[in-house]
Amino acid sequence: MAGRSRGPFVAGNWKMNLGLGEARALARKVAAAASEASPDASKTSAIEKPSGVEAGPELSDCTVVLIPPFTALGTVAAAVAGSAVGLGGQDLFWEDQGAYTGEVSGPMLRDAGCAYVLVGHSERRQLFGETDEMVGRKARAALKAGLTPIVCIGEVLAERDGGRTLGRIDDQLARGLDGFSKEDVERVVIAYEPVWAIGTGRTASPAQAEEVHAHIRGRIRESYGNDTAGCAIILYGGSVKPANSYPLSKEKDIDGFLVGGASLDADGFIGIAREALRAYREEK
Ligand code: PEP
Repeated sequence: MAGRSRGPFVAGNWKMNLGLGEARALARKVAAAASEASPDASKTSAIEKPSGVEAGPELSDCTVVLIPPFTALGTVAAAVAGSAVGLGGQDLFWEDQGAYTGEVSGPMLRDAGCAYVLVGHSERRQLFGETDEMVGRKARAALKAGLTPIVCIGEVLAERDGGRTLGRIDDQLARGLDGFSKEDVERVVIAYEPVWAIGTGRTASPAQAEEVHAHIRGRIRESYGNDTAGCAIILYGGSVKPANSYPLSKEKDIDGFLVGGASLDADGFIGIAREALRAYREEK
């Protein structure tokens, strides 16, 4: 799959938010905006355009993914059906089925209409004890189920302040992608999310983010070669908003965003995608 497009990729992680009615309304707004001028727009005529989102034709070139809580997957799948919007789960367990109360497997997510799944989000690591090894097992299970894992990595503030950011990134990459072939890595999306910037309103500066993104791409190049590094999709996450999306997107190794809080607002989320696409279409 070398040559996979690095056109902007914007994913909205709704975390543990939204009831079914709210989820449906938000998904329909995003689908209407994202699908307006897609090459398959004729198939999306069933999607009524809600008010409040001014759809721009440019969004057809941006990969847009919604990641609702498990309870809303069915509702969101129905709301975005026929549109260009993809669907993802927030987590998965590595076994396919069995006595694992509370867990959801890769095949189940596929069944629910997902093409993507978050793996190793910092909230899973910090609040639920996920280790780098568990993240690697989950990423492998996602690939086995035919899902694209969005593997989240990033340092905490003490690691950044202690000059250990790149070392921490190396550890997370090595264990999170342990045993992966070149073909496996070409199916993965990596999200660099400095933990100190998630939900805090603090964003890494474009230069701070680019330093880590370039490092990640460099590590992929060392292990898997130029083609794989060239098509690696590396997202930034951490308090992204429409206002900071453009300058971050101008950095050459930032391919899009994993968005938390701002993805709960259709206008803000679509605004981020538009700004990412604007930067992408200009010379980086
Ligand atoms: C996230 O949850 O991955 C995230 C980046 O959150 P926020 O955008 O709210 O910082």
